[in-house]
Amino acid sequence: TRDAALAEVTGPGATADGRPVALLANIGGPRDLAAALEHGAEGVGLYRTEFLFLDRDQAPSEEEQEAAYREVVSAFPGRPVTVRVLDAGGDKPLGFLPPTEKEPNPALGQRGVRILRIFTDVLTGQLRALARAAEAGSAEVRVMAPMVATPEDAAWFVAACRAAGLRSAGIMIEVPAAALRATDLAPAVDFFSIGTNDLAQYTFAADREVGALTAFQDPWQPVLLDLVAMTASAGVPTAVCGEACSDPALSCVLAGLGVTALSMAAPAIPGVRAALARHTLAQCRAAAVAARAQTGPEAARAAARTHLPALA
Ligand code: PEP
Ligand code: MG
Repeated sequence: TRDAALAEVTGPGATADGRPVALLANIGGPRDLAAALEHGAEGVGLYRTEFLFLDRDQAPSEEEQEAAYREVVSAFPGRPVTVRVLDAGGDKPLGFLPPTEKEPNPALGQRGVRILRIFTDVLTGQLRALARAAEAGSAEVRVMAPMVATPEDAAWFVAACRAAGLRSAGIMIEVPAAALRATDLAPAVDFFSIGTNDLAQYTFAADREVGALTAFQDPWQPVLLDLVAMTASAGVPTAVCGEACSDPALSCVLAGLGVTALSMAAPAIPGVRAALARHTLAQCRAAAVAARAQTGPEAARAAARTHLPALA
């Protein structure tokens, strides 16, 4: 039962000296809620809504969307539930949202917020369904857009959220331009959430789908840590929701860089909770400084570890 699952929770994420770091779950839909609760997630940090939209001739009705969103929202009363609006295009093309021209490089094409700015009805329908679900539950619903690159993208999306009656609106930071100019994007938004998978892809110009290039997806690359630091110091609460978070040592480094929430596949949460609980914020900061001083991922990992003695 839900009560039994919650009883296994060993408490909210925090460093040894009490700096809170929210430990949230990445989910693809209501079917992932049980695992999130079982592993003690404090909320949802990334709800990838595109699974609702795949393999269809048209967008799901607002009623169908609302039902799915309500299920997620009701699982986390009083807790943050961060919903990412449809991230279509690129490696997730949808027949009913065709790009306006043939795209030789879909990852660099009309994807994420770019395609939503063309098919605005799809976004407004989704935001209406989310607003109704938010009203019906007591979770703290936060809505964010993928693939934001400019202040105009951010302001446009946040205005759409406000018009729909949604209180908390943010953006994913997964394009280097957005990380490098996070201070320009900050005034428009309530929060940032860094997607390290795409941020690595675009920083190294290395397709995340190409197996031969997986070394570029290593989240210990010092340049990625630099971009996280720039983002987290722009004055807006910053989460990380890419695969990077499931590495306990890296989660300490991210906390040391100023990240205040980590969202990951639910089974990784207990390991990350333990790693944070065993180290002070000062140790996490020292680990981050040491990692950023290196020129490659292996050296960064090793340097960070010297400051994190209690890692399992
Ligand atoms: C990311 O890019 O890191 C991310 C969290 O989003 P997705 O993996 O769904 O693109
Ligand atoms: Mg992404």
